[in-house]
Amino acid sequence: MDQIKAYGAKSSDADLAELEIKRRDVLADDIKIEIDYCGVCHSDIHQVRNDWKNSRYPVVPGHEIIGRVTEIGSNVKNFKKGDVVGVGCLVDSCQECEACKDNLEQYCENGMVATYNGKDEHLGGHTFGGYSENIIVNKKFVLSIPKNIDIKATPPLLCAGITTWSPLRQWNVQKGDKVGVVGLGGLGHMGIKFAHALGAHVVMITTSPNKSEDAEKLGADEVLISKDEKQMKAHANSFDFILNTVPVGHDVNPYLNLLKRDKTMCLVGAIEPLKEVNGGALIIKRKRLAGSLIGGIEETQEMLNFCGEHNIVSDVEMIDIQNINNAYERVVNSDVKYRFVIDMQSLKS
Ligand code: NAP
Ligand code: ZN
Repeated sequence: MDQIKAYGAKSSDADLAELEIKRRDVLADDIKIEIDYCGVCHSDIHQVRNDWKNSRYPVVPGHEIIGRVTEIGSNVKNFKKGDVVGVGCLVDSCQECEACKDNLEQYCENGMVATYNGKDEHLGGHTFGGYSENIIVNKKFVLSIPKNIDIKATPPLLCAGITTWSPLRQWNVQKGDKVGVVGLGGLGHMGIKFAHALGAHVVMITTSPNKSEDAEKLGADEVLISKDEKQMKAHANSFDFILNTVPVGHDVNPYLNLLKRDKTMCLVGAIEPLKEVNGGALIIKRKRLAGSLIGGIEETQEMLNFCGEHNIVSDVEMIDIQNINNAYERVVNSDVKYRFVIDMQSLKS
């Protein structure tokens, strides 16, 4: 067992600060990864601040991890020392239930083990994430990173990437479909890139008019300001699919009005209660409101391979770990372009 440096919060009202955590010894199926870069997801902030009322402290966040393999267990054949690898939001699952057999480990019926704040079967207590020097992960939950993409801009693919890719695939977004992406943050900017790469006509639906130019650079064909009722009316009943990344409970009715008959809006952000949903908004044109949680390991690898083939990475702003508290404030104020990535070398200084 190793004692290592990390960054975490000791309570819901504490800033993140340096602390020490334990990592298990490398078991036969394990891979030890020295962490080079870690993305900052809005979920990190929700969990540090106990927004979902299930945080366990200290919280050491980080589920967008890129690093190098430094040690492998005796049963590991698919990775070797020096490989650049990724770890996303989950580090274990039962491997036996129907969901796991369907390669949907994120929906494991016995409870997937989250990269942080999950149940640690090995050391007891809870798991610690990527705001740390290294991590030890079962080989089934380690991803290969395509060699041609810039690894500094790759960490967000492990959560923001797969969380937007999975619903676009699940609802079979096709060339020419009119697809709306609500909220231009970490998830939203990947949603635009993927929908664009799949050939859709992409509409960025935002509360921030000042993000319009960026949205178009990221691949949006049009920008719709959600606070502008006239614009919203002009787009009513016209969308084939909407991916909604708004990070809080909100009024979904104006967005449901944008869908065509029989089409779906998928929520990925608001995990808390929504404002009242108008049944009529769903019934009248047989519309659907759905949800989606990250993606399975196989699908995550498929997404990473697609990024390799299409040269897709995230737009990132690099920070040192010492600036993490300020970065959190900026994310909460919708002021991130469009994902912070921590250079984990800074933890050593
Ligand atoms: P983010 O970077 O903060 O982006 C969210 C964006 O939503 C903001 O930039 C803003 O965009 C818009 N927004 C914020 N507050 C809003 C409000 N009250 N009404 C309407 N729009 C609002 O966050 P993120 O990292 O992309 O994460 C988004 C959410 O997804 C978080 O709640 C996170 O926990 C969750 N998440 C879910 C999964 C999953 O598996 N389902 C995975 C990862 C993260 P505009 O300025 O363009 O309006
Ligand atoms: Zn995340």
